[in-house]
Amino acid sequence: MEPQRSPLLEVKGNIELKRPLVKAPSRLPLPGSRLKRGPDQMEDALEPKKKRTRGLGTATKFASSHPRAPALTTVPQTQGQISAPKVPKKTGPRCSTAVATVLKNQKSGPAVPAQKPCTAAAPPKLGVKKPSKRPAWDLKGQICDLNAELKCCREKTQTLDQENQQLRSQLQEAQQQATALGIERRTLEGELARVQAQAEQGQQELENLSTHVLELEERLGTQEGLVQELQKEQLGFQEERRRLATLLEEQERRLQASEAALSGSRAEVASLRQEAAAQAALLAERGERLHGLEMERRRLHNQLQELKGNIRVFCRVRPVLPGEPTPTPGFLLFPSGPGGPSDPPTHLSLFRSDERRGTLSGAPAPPTRHDFSFDRIFPPGSGQDEVFEEIAMLVQSALDGYPVCIFAYGQTGSGKTFTMEGGPGADPQEEGLIPRALRHLFSVAQELSSQGWTYSFVASYVEIYNETVRDLLATGTRKAQGGECEIRRAGPGSEELTVTNARYVPVSCEKEVEALLYLARQNRAVARTAQNERSSRSHSVFQLQISGEHAGRGLQCGAPLNLVDLAGSERLDPGLALGPEERERLRETQAINSSLSTLGLVIMALSNKESHVPYRNSKLTYLLQNSLGGSAKMLMFVNISPLEENVSESLNSLRFASKVNQCVIGTAQPNRK
Ligand code: ADP
Ligand code: MG
Repeated sequence: MEPQRSPLLEVKGNIELKRPLVKAPSRLPLPGSRLKRGPDQMEDALEPKKKRTRGLGTATKFASSHPRAPALTTVPQTQGQISAPKVPKKTGPRCSTAVATVLKNQKSGPAVPAQKPCTAAAPPKLGVKKPSKRPAWDLKGQICDLNAELKCCREKTQTLDQENQQLRSQLQEAQQQATALGIERRTLEGELARVQAQAEQGQQELENLSTHVLELEERLGTQEGLVQELQKEQLGFQEERRRLATLLEEQERRLQASEAALSGSRAEVASLRQEAAAQAALLAERGERLHGLEMERRRLHNQLQELKGNIRVFCRVRPVLPGEPTPTPGFLLFPSGPGGPSDPPTHLSLFRSDERRGTLSGAPAPPTRHDFSFDRIFPPGSGQDEVFEEIAMLVQSALDGYPVCIFAYGQTGSGKTFTMEGGPGADPQEEGLIPRALRHLFSVAQELSSQGWTYSFVASYVEIYNETVRDLLATGTRKAQGGECEIRRAGPGSEELTVTNARYVPVSCEKEVEALLYLARQNRAVARTAQNERSSRSHSVFQLQISGEHAGRGLQCGAPLNLVDLAGSERLDPGLALGPEERERLRETQAINSSLSTLGLVIMALSNKESHVPYRNSKLTYLLQNSLGGSAKMLMFVNISPLEENVSESLNSLRFASKVNQCVIGTAQPNRK
């Protein structure tokens, strides 16, 4: 690359090179022209003097390359020390020609005139013929020539001065130009720097752009990869779309089919709804009828019970237990009823032989026959289920809202506890009336719930011993204290009675009832160890308070079901010696007999509709007074032993029961609220 030149040197170069331009000073060299100069030219510009001293060769070179400026290289200083170059063939500018001439003259001497005389020297040349070489002696002539030559030189000097002046002014102009050019150069340099900066910036930008392009290319590559993936995916989607479209078509077909089926179903549903509404109406009507029928059933059931008698007496003869003496055949007879052997027995004949009585012949008197008639007789072989079947109707009455009392009466060991609670083992066949009755109640209550009835049951279990009441369901500290209780009215003015401190346990299933019976047995066992056979000397009263509600009709009913295992009815043997134990026993017996006879008296009083019913005469009747009234139903089991040795007690029991059986308590009314 061409080295950059200093603008100042360029200007100098111009000055040297373009001397002919002096005649046209207004013409400034163009920047382009400057740039076009070669390095030699620049060298010349830098060392003008040197070049001048080199002689003609250089000048000639210039003259040949720059024909219009040969004079510049040959411009002599006033000293005129430089030898004159060859005279240019072509006519150059006026001044340069003159200078050349002068120089030539100086070198070659006066004898060599210039080919073309300068303007200053012209006058002497014009008027004087070129002198020939003067002889040596012609000093005057020589002086004259020299004067002429001097004159010419003076003129030349003058011309050269003028020319010098012009050159100075040219130089000044050139300097001004140089200054201007310097400014311009600086401007250009600034511009160049700016351009360079721009170029650098451009370069930087270019690089950045290249980097960016590379990044973009890279991204493009990635994008292309992505595009390819997307295209693949698109293909997959298109495939999927086609598959889904097929599926959709299939679904639409199915939908149409389903819609058709749905409309069919809707029609069916509508007809079914109509049918359901009709059924509901029918159901409501039937419900109404059912309720009417239920009420009618209750009424008829009650009527039936009344026809059977509000006080009923069943006699149950327990079987002969292993180890007991077999009674004389015919000791007890169970004659068939009017309907024949298929009829359940209601008659009992007991034959008692009295050895004290004799016949006239001395033979033993035939046994005395004692006939009894009860609502039902259960011979020794009767099972617990058979017994319960008969009283299930009565239990139903309790659900219908009639107070029910079931007693087991008889001497100790006649089977009262067996009848009420069941056998000593866990044999379900030997389950007594209490668990069976409760199971029946729970089951019927469940059935009635479909008719809108809701039942709840609360159980209590107490014993009355020597006119004291004790809770058989007591637990914990109450149990340790003996569980003694008092019978009180539930509230002031209330007819309802309650046993203070006794547990009233809500029950809803057999298991709960079993647990209560087990607890009662445990409590009795504890008492038995303390006082011999106390259980047989006390009344056990299991009470179940039944509460029914028909929310839909605003009906309520409630009644107690009492299952009473009475104390042994045996009398004290009058022949026994009265020791302290016997005296205690006598006191017990008197209490028992008193309460049992009070029970009989209460029943009589109720039967005879007496104004005063002696409920208060015993704790038992006092506790049961609400279940013995006119609206109540009562069933008494008279349990007798099959043994002949117990015939006296059996007769007593049967007589007592017969009296009760003769009683009729007024028409029972259900306890409806
Ligand atoms: P009570 O309670 O009247 O004193 P129990 O019920 O304790 O008499 O009966 C005395 C015994 O006779 C018990 O061992 C009992 O199991 C048994 N027993 C009573 N009645 C029957 C019966 N119907 N079948 C079988 N055993 C009975
Ligand atoms: Mg008993």
